[in-house]
Amino acid sequence: MQLDAPTLLVATALLTGMVGSLFLLSWSQARTVRALAIWGIAHVVGAFASCLLALRGTIPDWTSIGIGNAVMIGAYGLIRSGTLAFEGRPLRFWQAGTGVGVWLAACLVPPFYESAPARVMLASLLAGGFCWLSAVDVWRGRAEPLVSRYPAVVILGAYAALYWLRIPLAMIQPAPPPGFNPLQSPWLAWVCLAAMLFSLALAFVFMALTKERAELLQRRAADTDPLTGIASRRAFVTRAEAVLAGTDRPAALLLFDLDHFKRINDADGHAVGDGVLVGFCHTVQALLPGEAVFGRMGGEEFACLLRDREAAAALDTADLIRRAVERLSPESLPHLSVTVSIGVATTRTQGRALERDLDALLRRADQALYEAKRRGRNRVEPALPDRTPQPRAAAFPERGTVRPDVPGLRLNGQGHRT
Ligand code: GH3
Ligand code: MG
Ligand code: MG
Repeated sequence: MQLDAPTLLVATALLTGMVGSLFLLSWSQARTVRALAIWGIAHVVGAFASCLLALRGTIPDWTSIGIGNAVMIGAYGLIRSGTLAFEGRPLRFWQAGTGVGVWLAACLVPPFYESAPARVMLASLLAGGFCWLSAVDVWRGRAEPLVSRYPAVVILGAYAALYWLRIPLAMIQPAPPPGFNPLQSPWLAWVCLAAMLFSLALAFVFMALTKERAELLQRRAADTDPLTGIASRRAFVTRAEAVLAGTDRPAALLLFDLDHFKRINDADGHAVGDGVLVGFCHTVQALLPGEAVFGRMGGEEFACLLRDREAAAALDTADLIRRAVERLSPESLPHLSVTVSIGVATTRTQGRALERDLDALLRRADQALYEAKRRGRNRVEPALPDRTPQPRAAAFPERGTVRPDVPGLRLNGQGHRT
């Protein structure tokens, strides 16, 4: 197969320019992601460098060799700044500037400029160095679970290795005849092909990384209650179901509803009400074991699933929380009285199997919570083990319906008391 280095360089320039424009287009739609803008500019700059390198022999050598490589090194420096931006670290544009400066300064030294192997070695050292640093940056950020990190590290690392491989090759290569244009060298054509494929692969993984992060942030936002920072109802249900499915030990569900919360809102304002909800969550979280699943079911209603908890221990934990909430009173609002009612249900054995149905557990805890309200609030009530669970629609009816067994208690659309 005949590969032609100038053709490949032109193709690389076109491809890199297109990829750069795509990055900039993506950035224009997600301006907070600065990495997209920096990678976009890096690719456009790289495309310009490929054009200058492809014009070797057509334009003055100083422009093609000196400026072309300087621009190329600057593009790799920008790739590294983009990676730093992606990892939320300082951008260090000065490193790209230093790389370009070192190259231009070396080119001003005639013995260096006239030695093709020396030029190849320095350009490869600098470009490969930026790729390597980028690979290290992406690897260091691996605490953030993005699968695309691993191909990105491999591609950047292999790209660095390819550049660095050129250093010993340049040393052992026989000196070219005077006036020889390296663009005619067949092995340079292979290097150009590899570089083209690498820049394409790099563009793919960078795009995949940004897309994956956007999805992760969206998922986290949907799983987190914006006011209190604890799990949303959806996330609570998913996590609690996973716990129930994965344990053979009894588990307990605590259902909390703040007492007369509407009065707090009415008397002190919605902002104070919000503060009470946040304070309540902090109090509960401080008393729960690390593996407990705690979430906001909606409004002033919360739930917690405790694994490995028999009924007596669960009731003790619930009462500990109830007493701690009772003491929740900021100095600036001494009249504020915050109390909570708690319904507690524990998983039962059905024959020899353990009950794993979260809905059934929620229904029984809800009935117990209703009992706690009925008996005067600020109390913990266990679910009756022998109470036959109502169908879910009865415990969590649709908007505006009234629980058949709870006269006057209205529930909103999410199945909560209102
Ligand atoms: P009960 O003891 O029977 O539970 O009485 P309650 O006043 O707590 O119950 P009710 O259902 O009448 O009132 C709940 C109130 O919670 C009504 C609603 O405005 C308020 N609320 C729901 N979500 C929020 C929120 O995010 N912030 C604030 N400040 N209030 C909220
Ligand atoms: Mg309430
Ligand atoms: Mg309520």
